[in-house]
Amino acid sequence: MEINLIVNELIRYAKTNLSVNDEDVIYLRNMILGELDLPSFEEVEVDFEKIDSFKNPDYFTDLLTEYFKETTTLSDNEIERKITKIYGFLTPLPSKVIEKFNDILKNEGNEKALDYLFDLSIKNDYVKKSKIDKNLVWSSSYPDKNIEVSINLSKPEKNNKDIAKLLVKPKPSDVKYPSCLLCKENLGYYGRDDYPARENIRLIPLKLDDEQWYLQYSPYGYFNMHCIVLRDCHSNMVINESTFKKLLSFVDNFPYFFIGSNADLPIVGGSILNHEHYQGGEHRLPIMHSKPKFEFNLSENYSSKLYLLDWYNSTFLIEGENKEEIVEIATKILNKWRNYDDLDNNILSHSGGTIHNTITPCVKKEGEKYSLYLILRNNRCNNEYPDGIFHAHPEYHHIKHEGIGIIEAMGLFILPARLIRQINQIKDCLENNYSDKEIVDKYPDMEGLFLGMIHDLAKNFNKDSIDTDIREYINNVCRNILKNTAVFKDDEKGINGVKKFIDSIEF
Ligand SMILES: [Zn+2]
Repeated sequence: MEINLIVNELIRYAKTNLSVNDEDVIYLRNMILGELDLPSFEEVEVDFEKIDSFKNPDYFTDLLTEYFKETTTLSDNEIERKITKIYGFLTPLPSKVIEKFNDILKNEGNEKALDYLFDLSIKNDYVKKSKIDKNLVWSSSYPDKNIEVSINLSKPEKNNKDIAKLLVKPKPSDVKYPSCLLCKENLGYYGRDDYPARENIRLIPLKLDDEQWYLQYSPYGYFNMHCIVLRDCHSNMVINESTFKKLLSFVDNFPYFFIGSNADLPIVGGSILNHEHYQGGEHRLPIMHSKPKFEFNLSENYSSKLYLLDWYNSTFLIEGENKEEIVEIATKILNKWRNYDDLDNNILSHSGGTIHNTITPCVKKEGEKYSLYLILRNNRCNNEYPDGIFHAHPEYHHIKHEGIGIIEAMGLFILPARLIRQINQIKDCLENNYSDKEIVDKYPDMEGLFLGMIHDLAKNFNKDSIDTDIREYINNVCRNILKNTAVFKDDEKGINGVKKFIDSIEF
């Protein structure tokens, strides 16, 4: 490997894709030489056409990884941090990125500005686009209620060497800086064995309801231009009147994106509850293609409409052009729901002092019209359902056991990578018609719920349609999980319950 040539090529790549100025080339080159422990440099010709055709920096990541492995004893983690540091040098400083983003926002609009940051984040390896593209994704149409499934292969699994290192280093909880992965203090952070490097992250400041927030992209996004909007300070997730104001204010600034928040309680919330943040992006989630089931009567003073949505779980849709009014209606629904009990529908808002009721909200804007989706959630557990009454029921845990956060609740299921291996095992069992004993002997993974899945699929086994049949089985499980999350079921008792709930609010 000719490392001198690679440095030459990398500089060319950065000039083309990361706005590196001629005046900074020698300086940045020397910084890179330092990281590579190279004492000297020689300018050589590079193939411009080849370098300029790169859509991401994978070529350099691979070669630099190889170089560090050959010339050092660094672990995979340490190598990754070194490479991220190099990409960090080559990325414009945070202030320059903000200046350019705002300049584009002012002159070319929000869509172009968001594109700029997304493109920069791919080109500097913050967004792992080629890894995201490896996810196995499919969508399925059902009348009015599409769902989408993504088996997530992009997040790297740590190897044993790195895991072993963690045992002798301080535990993550012992180190308080940055407080979490969503804190602004990650900007430029070098990382640790138990914490990713963040030299190449860039944040765009924005004001939401007069509060300071920031926008960044998700490194392993679940859909196109998956962004994270995070609060300036490290404080717990919360759903209240101000949440609705902030979400609506976000789509005023960036109508190209939808934006939503996970609920503020465990089981029904996302994986990070200790830092207030939202998720958004260019994608139209399946719930957004859903139609109203019926409309509720609001006072004549309101110009907005309130619907129950024809969706798997209990979702209200508020539509209108008047933001203050939408916030008022949503806040009335939230405040009522927080303390609402309906024993007929097994809904208890509190156990002692512990609160169970919350809402998963999401907003999009088209033209002047806002659409605010409110999914009613409850995280209570009982003896029958120790993981949650309105959570995926145990018979579906072989497909998805993790919490049903905003993305899933709105119809895009993120399923664990292990399913790829398990789907292949299922196919092998079906194609060879193994007995239960043979299945479990050969594939211990298949014990329990997967055996039932194999029996179901064996009933109509057809070698040519097996892939479609397995997907259809998974789709049905996902649909049933969404129905599990419905606090008011789609039957007479449930519908009456929804109507009674709305009737109890003074609009
Ligand atoms: Zn934080």
